[in-house]
Amino acid sequence: MTATLTADSPTRAARTDRIPVAVLGATGSVGQRFVQLLEHHPWFRLHEVVASERSAGKRYADAADWRLDTLLPDAAGDLTVKPLGGELESRLVFSGLDSSVAGQAEDDYANRGCAVISNSKNHRMDADVPLLLPEINADHLAAIEKQREKRSGYIVTNSNCSTMGLALAIAPIERRWGIEQLHVTTMQAVSGAGYNGVSSLAILDNVIPYISGEEEKIETEPRKILGQWDGSRFVDAPMRISAHTNRVPTIDGHLMTISLQMRDRDFDLAAIRAALDDFTGEPQRLGLPSAPKKPIHYIDAPDRPQTRLDRDRERGMSVSVGRLRPCPLLDIRMVALVHNTIRGAAGAALLNAELLEAKGLL
Ligand code: NAP
Repeated sequence: MTATLTADSPTRAARTDRIPVAVLGATGSVGQRFVQLLEHHPWFRLHEVVASERSAGKRYADAADWRLDTLLPDAAGDLTVKPLGGELESRLVFSGLDSSVAGQAEDDYANRGCAVISNSKNHRMDADVPLLLPEINADHLAAIEKQREKRSGYIVTNSNCSTMGLALAIAPIERRWGIEQLHVTTMQAVSGAGYNGVSSLAILDNVIPYISGEEEKIETEPRKILGQWDGSRFVDAPMRISAHTNRVPTIDGHLMTISLQMRDRDFDLAAIRAALDDFTGEPQRLGLPSAPKKPIHYIDAPDRPQTRLDRDRERGMSVSVGRLRPCPLLDIRMVALVHNTIRGAAGAALLNAELLEAKGLL
């Protein structure tokens, strides 16, 4: 069972002072995870839920076909779903919208003065939008100033779910030795395709070697995440990435195999292993409520990480890495696992918002 992100972490505000938030796309796969994780959140309180015309006007409990393995929180179930585009009382807006509508809607709410924390692909590569992964690039928040030249609110995005696992797993290596090129093959769970994404007849007893648009995201987003904000623009990390993506019949958790070539060949496996296991960043320094104690856990067992056994590590917020060994083609290879709807989506967005609050940007 997946625990909620209550954590034994410091609380910034008393529960009565929690910041009211809206969730766009609240009925979907990511939206339900937001609702679950917000139930006991120490800083944020679910105040509004928004979805399509199909759901608007209904009680959330009737509109959402709740599929998570914790009970639907009563308070959330009683909220009336609002239509997309209407006025919101919340100034902090989480988006788990389908990408067909996310781009315009997120712009609209940012133009109305909201801080929009998005999971969707639409604005990730915008020149003035941080593709935030707080352990790696908290300084990219400086780009918000650029957005504020044109509107009162702003958009901050988190990455594609597989990108999240990949970027975290390679960050300590990129920072210390540099990465010339890498090859990644993913085995992605069905929850990553959204609530109605893959039919059971298509995925049971099967592996589908194609996920629309996914390889392009994995080949570009890590370069922005691991790149620099130079004061006026993002400069990508120079690595080359080749991705193969596969849909497999697991429910949650994206597993991936990674082979990579280093820029600085003066490395040894013990030092890389230590760099992975010791890696921390701004969320750990600040003690943010959703921050895992360790963003990366290196697991020694020869057959780990495994999707079902390791995806919930640190409430789904840590990436598990194992099987670090030499690669006969490139330099090293390893296996990584990320919980796609927690660290790869709703949990990541909550962590992003917590960083914004801690930096006084909400
Ligand atoms: P999903 O299960 O299909 O949910 C989509 C949500 O968008 C639903 O709440 C749906 O509301 C709403 N929506 C659809 N069309 C709409 C419209 N015309 N107007 C207003 N609302 C509309 O998708 P998901 O998997 O949660 O993904 C949501 C977003 O997060 C996508 O952009 C996806 O790429 C991204 N993402 C997903 C994952 C993951 O692991 N699933 C990870 C990272 C990022 P109704 O129920 O009313 O139709």
